[in-house]
Amino acid sequence: MIQTIRGFRDILPADTFLWQAIEKTASELFENFGFQEIRIPIMEKTELFARSIGETTDIVEKEMYTFADRKGDKLTLRPEATASVVRSYIQHNMGSSDPVQKLYTIGPMFRRERPQKGRYRQFYQINAEVFGIASPYIDAQLILILNELFKRLGLSELKAHINSLGCKECRPTFQKELLSVLNDKKEHLCENCIRRMEKNPLRTLDCKVPTCREALKDAPSTLGHLCNGCRDHFETVKSVLKDQNVDFTVDKTLVRGLDYYSKTTFEILTTALGAQSAVAGGGRYDALIKELDGPDTYGIGFAIGLDRLAEIVAQMVNEKLTQTQDSSPKDDLQSDFMKLLSARFPDLFIIPIGEKAFRLAYLWSSALNIAGIRTETDYSGRSLKSLMKRADKLNCAYVLIAGDQEIEDNALVLRDMKTKEQYFITTDNPVEQIQTLLSRV
Ligand code: ATP
Ligand code: MG
Repeated sequence: MIQTIRGFRDILPADTFLWQAIEKTASELFENFGFQEIRIPIMEKTELFARSIGETTDIVEKEMYTFADRKGDKLTLRPEATASVVRSYIQHNMGSSDPVQKLYTIGPMFRRERPQKGRYRQFYQINAEVFGIASPYIDAQLILILNELFKRLGLSELKAHINSLGCKECRPTFQKELLSVLNDKKEHLCENCIRRMEKNPLRTLDCKVPTCREALKDAPSTLGHLCNGCRDHFETVKSVLKDQNVDFTVDKTLVRGLDYYSKTTFEILTTALGAQSAVAGGGRYDALIKELDGPDTYGIGFAIGLDRLAEIVAQMVNEKLTQTQDSSPKDDLQSDFMKLLSARFPDLFIIPIGEKAFRLAYLWSSALNIAGIRTETDYSGRSLKSLMKRADKLNCAYVLIAGDQEIEDNALVLRDMKTKEQYFITTDNPVEQIQTLLSRV
């Protein structure tokens, strides 16, 4: 039997309904904030990622799926979306009609990492990017949007960590100081860090090797070296977040794994999946667009890890549903998101009994499907009892009992599966009657 590649997986219907509900909640929220969807290819020239993410990052050094196509061009399955969205912004000259562009995109990313819980080689991200706005208000707004999204999804155990990485004005002095500390601690650093430290000393602060972490726990931080502009910017981000009641922690160790960030960086962390991990991360990348031969304009964005988010949301939903079995329904079960989730069940199951009924049930259920009522029926001629069981299993809100007898009596029985209430439907226009009844209750 042929199976999926290691680190790749199928998202099955038992989960896709949850993914769709998350995606819908996110896109609606983003659109309220003026974002528009962009769809970008999953493959790009390798050079795009090497130049933007940075040659000395983990992603570019060891995680990309890169290969030569039949003509020898070097191509890469995208490990992240920002580089592609920036490429698109430049390629289509989007800034010329309006320098301010707010774009979001949802799709798969590819990184050859060691697979484990919440970490896959094909994983999904929801990305949002804003071009053309220098103001720190937009940094705060992106964190606000993440906060609001997680609130709408019913998640509470999340924490925003924020930091500032400075800009090309203030980073050189910081790097110099860091480099001298790195030289002092050289014997405690891993090979990777030693190799990278001259080219890109900031990368050592992102190293996950415990001995490096220990050696560098008191290393200088960018926050201690911000120029006035960067300091003011960061202060404004913090004060706006406070005004908007967004809970955050300043985390001077948050450097992120990509080279293009400057000024504000942030991550949303959770402990819901065991060890602390990030469900979302992002930051400002004011130099990147010019770096990729575009106009000198501002950029900032974030990426949400959809696989991890869906796992946390699934845990939360299961907890809530088990709670409600032994107590009264919780208010937040009435949230828009929970309503989206329950919308996956059929509205109606038509139970045909007998030859004539069988054909009519098929015709009525198709007409109801077209009219927007999720209707199922049976094609196997099973008994009333076994079909009632099936309707129950499918979580249908109503059943319509349409036996030859009911048809002859011109009195079909529509039963509310929850309240057990019954309504009679005549055979002349059952579709309209059912539509009216279901829209009333
Ligand atoms: P991590 O520190 O967990 O490796 P990262 O900093 O590499 O994350 P980003 O590049 O910032 O991740 O991507 C944003 C989000 O995408 C992460 O917060 C995470 O939720 C998700 N993500 C990243 N890599 C993976 C992966 N291999 N599998 C599943 N989700 C991932
Ligand atoms: Mg990573």
